[in-house]
Formats: sequence, C-alpha cells, structure tokens
Amino acid sequence: MNEPWTRAKTFTVSALVTVLVLAPVAVLMVARGGWLATTATDRGPDKAIRDPSTSATLTRAPVRPSPAGELRLPAPAPAPAATARPDKRASSAPKRNKVANRDAQSVGRAARHVFPVADCSASYAQAHHDYPAADVFAARGCLFVAPVTGRVDEVNRADRWQPDTNRGPDRGGLMVSIVGRDDVRYYGAHLETVFPGIRVGRIVKAGTPLGRVGDTGSARGVGTHLHFGLSWPTPTDAWWIRRGAVPPAVFLDAWRAGRDVSPVAATAKAMRAYGDDSRCRAYC
Ligand SMILES: [Zn+2]
Repeated sequence: MNEPWTRAKTFTVSALVTVLVLAPVAVLMVARGGWLATTATDRGPDKAIRDPSTSATLTRAPVRPSPAGELRLPAPAPAPAATARPDKRASSAPKRNKVANRDAQSVGRAARHVFPVADCSASYAQAHHDYPAADVFAARGCLFVAPVTGRVDEVNRADRWQPDTNRGPDRGGLMVSIVGRDDVRYYGAHLETVFPGIRVGRIVKAGTPLGRVGDTGSARGVGTHLHFGLSWPTPTDAWWIRRGAVPPAVFLDAWRAGRDVSPVAATAKAMRAYGDDSRCRAYC
C-alpha cells in the first residue's frame, strides 16, 4: 500500500520541482516575449510612419530641384503617387508660379510705358490747341495711371480755377506730375480725384493708379478728360512747360497698342528747340 503512495508522492514532488523550475523560466520568457513584443510594437508604427515619410521625402525630393531648375511643370507628376497632401502641394506649386510670373511681369512693366487711362475707352486728337499736349477724353472716374515708373513731382488736390481770371497755374485743376526714371515729366490734369497715397516724392511703378478722370480746372463744362502733357523737368512754377512741350499723340498711340516707345529723344529735342529762355510763349 506504500508503493502507490510513494509513487504519488514522487510524482507530486517531481511535478512541484518541475513547476518551481519551469515557472521562473516561463516568467522570464513571458517577460522577454513581452519586451520583444513592446519593441516590435514600437518598431511597427515607427516603420509605418517612416515608410510614408520616406515616400513623402522622395516626393519632395524631385519637387525641390524642380523650382531651382525652373522646371515646375513636372512637379505635379509625383502628386498622384501619394494622396491628399501632394494634391495640395501640386495646387500650391502653380500658385507660386503665377505669383512669380506676376512679379516678373510687373518688373518688366516697370521699365515700360503704359497708356495713362486704364480700363476705360478713351479718345484723343492728334493735335492740341496752342501748345503740344493731348486731351484724352474718357468717362468721369476712369483711372489715370502712371505712364512710367518714376517719382511723383507735383500734386494739386484743390480746384482754384475761376473762369473770369483763367489763371495759367490753375487751369489744370486737380493734377499729378511724375518725373519718370527716363527723366521725362508726365503730367495729367483735370482730375476729379487724386488718390490719398499719391504724394510728392513717392516712387510709383508704371500702371499705378494716381487719380480719376474729371473736369476740374479749365475743363469745367467742356467734358471730362485727361489733359496729358510731356515735358522736361523744371521748377514747379513753370506751369507752361509742365502742361506739355512735346506732342504726345504718337506715344499714346504706341502705348495703347502695347508698344514701348520712349519720348526721351523727342523731349530732349524739344528742350533744345525751346532754348534757354524758358518763358511762356503761347496761351499764357
Ligand atoms: Zn488740354
């Protein structure tokens, strides 16, 4: 009867030993497994993040050299490879292109001449009464824009003209003159408004709005128009030069047609012809 008990005892002891020996090992393995699992979990998402970021880096990589190489059109090509973000990037790339083009155009325009009345139909005669100038007829409120990049030379914001006195300095009414970077003076008069930011000394680019066409000064009752004059720079009291000394129609024709014809030579010639005595000689 002792033998089965002994067997049972031996089995129990050996089982206990097995449990005691194996348990720490199992605990170790579980602990290790858990650590491995944690490491794997850490690595898992890391890889998952790294993969898209790698592809994103690859996507960006061809885009970056593209702007430097002025080859932006291929930039949208990598866009379909990845989803939403590259689409945004693709749409932002052409926007940057547009801005760059606009900047390039405005820089290009800065050296050019533009027709002085913008966004309106305008008509003018080839000749002006008494002295060289042009009356550019346009609707009230049409924009008078800087014909060239230059410096604001004179501004008058008050209409002091009286028909009974018809004083020469007041005939222009509200007006702006600009001395261009080409050293020609460009004059626009009879304005309804001179814009607030247009002050003497300010540098304006060609096409910058200066004011609005009106009928101030001696244009009162005559019809809204821009009196436009070309001349060489003088002291501000020489209004008879400022009002116009070079026939402008040929230049207006060119600028309206988008051709950049400079009045520099004609202005220099007119100045020489006028001579040193710069007193008023007609319609004074
Ligand atoms: Zn006129």
